[in-house]
Amino acid sequence: MATTFTKTGIQLPSDQEASGRNLGQAELANLVEVIGSGTLNSTKGRFVKQLEQEFADKLGVKHVFACASGTAAVHTAIAAVDPEPGEEIITSPITDMGALSPILYQGAIPVFAEVDPRTWNLTAETIEPCLSPRTKAIIATHLFGNPCEMDEIIALADSRNIPVIEDCAQAFLAQHRGCYAGTIGRISCFSLQQGKHITTGEGGMVATDDDALARRMFLFINKGWGYGDADPDHYFLALNYRMSELQGAVGVGQLPKLERSVQRRVAAARTLTQKLTPLRGIETPYVHPDNVHTYWKYCLRVDANVIPGGSDALGKQLKARQISCAPRYVQKPAFMCRVFQEQKTFGNSRFPFTLARPEVLQYDPQRFPLTMQALESVLVLPWNENYLDKHLDYIAESIHESVFHLCN
Ligand SMILES: *Cc1c(COP(=O)(O)O)cnc(C)c1O
Repeated sequence: MATTFTKTGIQLPSDQEASGRNLGQAELANLVEVIGSGTLNSTKGRFVKQLEQEFADKLGVKHVFACASGTAAVHTAIAAVDPEPGEEIITSPITDMGALSPILYQGAIPVFAEVDPRTWNLTAETIEPCLSPRTKAIIATHLFGNPCEMDEIIALADSRNIPVIEDCAQAFLAQHRGCYAGTIGRISCFSLQQGKHITTGEGGMVATDDDALARRMFLFINKGWGYGDADPDHYFLALNYRMSELQGAVGVGQLPKLERSVQRRVAAARTLTQKLTPLRGIETPYVHPDNVHTYWKYCLRVDANVIPGGSDALGKQLKARQISCAPRYVQKPAFMCRVFQEQKTFGNSRFPFTLARPEVLQYDPQRFPLTMQALESVLVLPWNENYLDKHLDYIAESIHESVFHLCN
């Protein structure tokens, strides 16, 4: 190595504060306007409506509704699909809990499919054995920004007339065969939480081309109240999941910056991949040649047969060099969390688990060898649109040095 770095290293831009975010004059000017107007809620204000319209135009979908969080977005999608209690939603065991708790809140049962250990995504092949007469929907999560193989998933779902919900919380402007993630399934969900591609602090969006689903989504975000109807009422059980104008103002400032952020994340990823190829025991992200991965995170696969201690050991080395990486990502599959293991839901009722087929409640890691393998080998690197060459050099050299250290 030509350059060596001290243990304190250099500070990488972080999405948790200004260095790794692009918040500035545009957001401030919009906020000044909102405050000046005195109208902070979206039913009367203009910014949330503008955010919805501009994001719909950007994606090329008919309807977009902003909401309170990515969790609220997933909840809205599930509520729009309207499962009967005990019906099943097929989903991934490697995801944010905010993509799972809404299923239980709607009285439905998450059925966990295995993931492809190369991409950490569900595939048609892993979904198929989970299908049952009770399957109401499939959630395809484009994990880390890498799109699922949607053609095969949609073909399988269409053959059974089951809607696919895309979870795009980590996959803004990712592309599958020329189509944006979020335009392929029946409904798609986005998050604007602090650490996502663009942010309003907390926030979310749902999108669809389907008018009937859009109507249910709008109502679910608005307490079931038929705003604008001749004779409005509260039509069904629903929550207030609205985004405020303060968030809408920030979102309208953020949206025009999305394209460039994505391009910079992709370019930075290409650079790091070059710097890490070849490195024995390390696999850089697999991207299908027809797809665009937009790198919410950059993930390595670490082969513990080559690098002693695997992703945990390498992660420890990188953390000592101030790279705040995450070996094993969320640590354990979602079904190993207490909410599933102990079925802690409403009082002591265990509802809706009480309605589930017993076989889908076998939350045993041995039933999920691919998922366990996927979690064991993954090392999640923090990723950012503000990385410069010096940051990428530092990350690459840190990885090379750490691997050398562990192997010698
Ligand atoms: C972040 C995230 C969510 C939840 O979004 P929040 O805005 O944090 O509620 C859902 N699904 C995935 C895949 C996520 O990454």
